[in-house]
Amino acid sequence: MAISNHRLKPEEYELNFSDIHPPFETRDAALVEANRCLFCYDAPCTKSCPTGINVPKFIKQIATDNIRGSAHTIFVSNIMGGGCSKVCPVEKLCEGACVYNLMEEEAIPIAKLQRYSTEKAIREKWPLFERKPSIGKRVAIVGAGPAGLSCAHTLSRQGIDVTIYEKESKGGGLMVYGIAAYKVTPAFCEEELDYILSLGGIEVKYEMELGNNLFLNELKKNYNAIYLGFGVGLTRQLDIPGEHLEGVVDALHFIYDIRSKGYPAVAVGDKVVVVGMGMTAIDAATQAKRLGAAEVTLVYRRTEAEMPCTETELNIAKLDGCRIVWLAAPKEIVGIDGRVTQLVCHVMQLGEPDASGRRSPVETGETFTLVTDMVIKATGQIPFQALVDAVGLRNDKGKILAAADGTTDLKGVFAGGDNVNGGKEVVDAVQAGKVGAAAIVRYLDLPA
Ligand code: SF4
Repeated sequence: MAISNHRLKPEEYELNFSDIHPPFETRDAALVEANRCLFCYDAPCTKSCPTGINVPKFIKQIATDNIRGSAHTIFVSNIMGGGCSKVCPVEKLCEGACVYNLMEEEAIPIAKLQRYSTEKAIREKWPLFERKPSIGKRVAIVGAGPAGLSCAHTLSRQGIDVTIYEKESKGGGLMVYGIAAYKVTPAFCEEELDYILSLGGIEVKYEMELGNNLFLNELKKNYNAIYLGFGVGLTRQLDIPGEHLEGVVDALHFIYDIRSKGYPAVAVGDKVVVVGMGMTAIDAATQAKRLGAAEVTLVYRRTEAEMPCTETELNIAKLDGCRIVWLAAPKEIVGIDGRVTQLVCHVMQLGEPDASGRRSPVETGETFTLVTDMVIKATGQIPFQALVDAVGLRNDKGKILAAADGTTDLKGVFAGGDNVNGGKEVVDAVQAGKVGAAAIVRYLDLPA
């Protein structure tokens, strides 16, 4: 067994990482689906979208060949509507709420239609928004992820001058660094970012990290308000023996490498075990398989009924040939010569519900062993507690305690997205950015 790169031929990588949700091939194909929409009054699809996109309106605009209007309808609610059409778990949001489900018919492919309009707008650089002239107010945003970008775009449209400080060398946050490349390509993320910034009035300063080379007190002196959208941090540790062994990696690092270094450069094991069952775990497992791992096993301490990923995500893993072991929790990682060779797991059973409302996993006393050469940890991310404490924000184990509109206990400092909610969907962060921008506009005493 060995961890190695360059396992596949270039055409195999290309095929394995091609777009999992291909776009409509023709205009007619989009029109057929758009014309199936019932344009429901009080549409449940819109209600279930965290950003409240007017779905029947944008679909109607597609049906009448008004693609510009359709893209505007989407972007006015969600400036990352292009990326969200690729990464949103639509089966539990808009498409899951479509009335066609009640008739036991295929839901309207809302995401694919949304992609139809937004990709065209982004590719053709349609200037759908105009920024008001500068009003002389300055806002600093920390983090160029979905929350920060959404906040920045909303503020800049009002004529506010925005500076985004981003610790990485690229903007886009987890869209760029933490999602499977077959869902959204790095190239698309760049195009989407350029499109958002093309509004003007938004400067992005890269490799600027709060608490390192960027300080809240300095920002307070130089800006009228501050918005914090720096997300959450490192993957939660397993805290078991052997975690230091070579071959034990963090899912986000693994996904980051795939996205930043290119597929052939990323090494993968023969027998990979992924710990966790959230979206990141699925993305890591499926990409390990697509990089050429012979066997990929996901282990999860609860059952399918409690898993955090959607059924659609689970099916992607199954279709990729990943094996799932339910009711299994890592006990120890065993190695030879400093390299991982086995993962010993507790056999679990479900007990009483815990704080999350899900039945809690309890050890049965039995164990089993998986032979492996690579263990990928995908057990959720933890908030930047030390950073949040250092800047003096009230928090709950590192999650910033902010009001629903993003107001924090520090005057002029607002926050939203993962650093407040602990880690939700991209679309939730976009909405948080919009809401935060509205609160900043009120704080600056500007007309909405
Ligand atoms: Fe169209 Fe379905 Fe939304 Fe009704 S619920 S407006 S049919 S997409």
